[in-house]
Amino acid sequence: MSLLEEIGRILEYGDICDHCLGRLYGRRSFGLTNEARGSALRVAYFLDLNQPFQGHKGSCWICGDLFAGVPEWAERVVRATGGIEYSTFLIGTRVPPLMAESEEMVWSDLCLQDAEALKSEMNREVGKAVSDLTGREADLSHPDVVAILDLQHAVVEVQISPLFIYGRYKKFERGIPQTHWDCRVCRGAGCERCNFTGKMYQDSVEELIGRPVTGFFEAETAVLHGAGREDIDARMVGTGRPFVMEVVSPKKRSADLSSLEALINSEAEGRVSVSSLRWSRRDEVEIIKSHKGYKKYRILIEVESPLSGNELQSAIEALKGVKVEQRTPQRVAHRRADLVRERKVLDIEFIGEEQGRYLLEVTGEAGLYIKELVSGDNGRTRPSLAEILGKPAQVCTLDVVQVEGFTDGE
Ligand SMILES: [Zn+2]
Ligand SMILES: [Zn+2]
Repeated sequence: MSLLEEIGRILEYGDICDHCLGRLYGRRSFGLTNEARGSALRVAYFLDLNQPFQGHKGSCWICGDLFAGVPEWAERVVRATGGIEYSTFLIGTRVPPLMAESEEMVWSDLCLQDAEALKSEMNREVGKAVSDLTGREADLSHPDVVAILDLQHAVVEVQISPLFIYGRYKKFERGIPQTHWDCRVCRGAGCERCNFTGKMYQDSVEELIGRPVTGFFEAETAVLHGAGREDIDARMVGTGRPFVMEVVSPKKRSADLSSLEALINSEAEGRVSVSSLRWSRRDEVEIIKSHKGYKKYRILIEVESPLSGNELQSAIEALKGVKVEQRTPQRVAHRRADLVRERKVLDIEFIGEEQGRYLLEVTGEAGLYIKELVSGDNGRTRPSLAEILGKPAQVCTLDVVQVEGFTDGE
């Protein structure tokens, strides 16, 4: 069948607009709008037949003359994104099933190979109109906002892309979990146990950093992605722990991160602090979460019976550089698979004595359980300091002083 014979067949379906006619050949030739393609094909068809020209009139059986409404849709987008700071956008279209089925029927009836879908033309045409109205650019890969045209309900839904900020945090107070925990009793609904907050703990590092961040960017919420986590009773000091903060649905995007840093540090009141803030991207969340660098801890330990001479020193020497076999500790066994892992003690040093307790610094491979390295966890960790000493020993306090493997300012 020739091209113009195909046009004749298409016109038999019913009255069709130039957009929908041209779009059936949307991937043929370049530098034309579908409307121009459709108009030219219609003219050529009647010239070929040498019959009086009949233009589009009435209502298009595929789109219902949707494209006449492009300027109005563009204005809806501008209204829906009012009050949101963005420099790039992307248009998406939710097409009613009947509309999509209509054009797909023509594609398959006539075996058309070069058709374009209605939604791509709508996205492009409304995108051009929004660009003209706002001076902002469409961006297919990393738009600041996505505007979804819901054709059936004549509304525009706006999705604001999250912002990502890298930094390092320190935690100066014990008893603060890294992230928000739902109350165990009510699972977040609120009950007497949690004083109707729905939370296990009043604050978390995530909330202490996230509250000022949320206000700063007029966002919905902020989610912390940490390079590993410290126990709730451990402090995080020294060089701090790398993290990426995901700012969800921010109405503001441009920011001076040093003033954000100052704001967080004043609002978190010395309980938590942040440093080295810089812009990040979604890709870095995965990198941060799969982080496998070593960690350095400062621990205060208690040994049940008195130690003589260099008993502790030689036990420490015996652990230096050793690969420890650790079965999943009892205290986390309820939420981790029960496995035996091998982790290396890269370094361990005696720092000093404090009122009958001993201060040590331990550097371990990612995943080394420090409390169990000291206590032995009833034989689940071997060797352990307690095993070598032949005396019960345990960690009283634990601070993370260094999380290695990240370069700030990348
Ligand atoms: Zn149409
Ligand atoms: Zn509760």
